[in-house]
Amino acid sequence: MLAHIKRRGLMLVLSSPSGAGKTTLCSRLLETEKNLTLSVSVTTRQKRPGEEEGKDYYFVSREEFLDMIERELFLEYAEVFGNFYGTPKKQVLEALAQGKDIIFDIDWQGTQQLAQLARTDLVSIFVLPPSIQELETRLKLRGQDSLDVIANRMNESSHEISHWPEYDYVIINKDLERSLNMARSILQAERLKRNRLLGLADFVNQLRLPMKERIKEK
Ligand code: 5GP
Repeated sequence: MLAHIKRRGLMLVLSSPSGAGKTTLCSRLLETEKNLTLSVSVTTRQKRPGEEEGKDYYFVSREEFLDMIERELFLEYAEVFGNFYGTPKKQVLEALAQGKDIIFDIDWQGTQQLAQLARTDLVSIFVLPPSIQELETRLKLRGQDSLDVIANRMNESSHEISHWPEYDYVIINKDLERSLNMARSILQAERLKRNRLLGLADFVNQLRLPMKERIKEK
């Protein structure tokens, strides 16, 4: 019903400790949400088996990343587990200009930076694992990281989790389909927020035109 009313795009952020299922949630949301586009980050970390350049990340050297910082090409960036990760400005600004919503798979540091830049456009969700044992099992099952890296990520997860109160929503990811439904509901409700419906005032004004003026207009 509101399809013809112009809307402002929103920035949907998903954060979680490694292994809580946020990346799967992101890709499943992207499969079904037509107006949603992924912000592909730049990173200095090694490519994992199965990851694709330009789809999962843009993989660059530390020197290239530092050069990009210098040239102010990032909307936000942070150091996570000893590697740099950053959101390129260009793709986000282009998507927002086209009225698209953008999804970000970034950590709490990046979320804080985006909140400072554009709080009203930001919708943030923190994804929690159902238990700490489950988190460890998922990291091991993923089979993408060495045991050292997994141990490191488990240590970091408690710190990452401590940032949960900074987020608008929290999803406990026990069952993927249920979590997906929750994320879709959040997205739907946020899209309907009055201050995002830029064309609403004109629409309402036209609804309130006195009847005789409407007849004249016809
Ligand atoms: P992973 O190495 O597992 O892909 O990602 C490690 C962490 O870095 C995750 O928490 C992920 O959300 C975060 N991350 C990925 N891209 C970005 C980014 O562009 N900016 C920030 N701040 N964090 C990111």
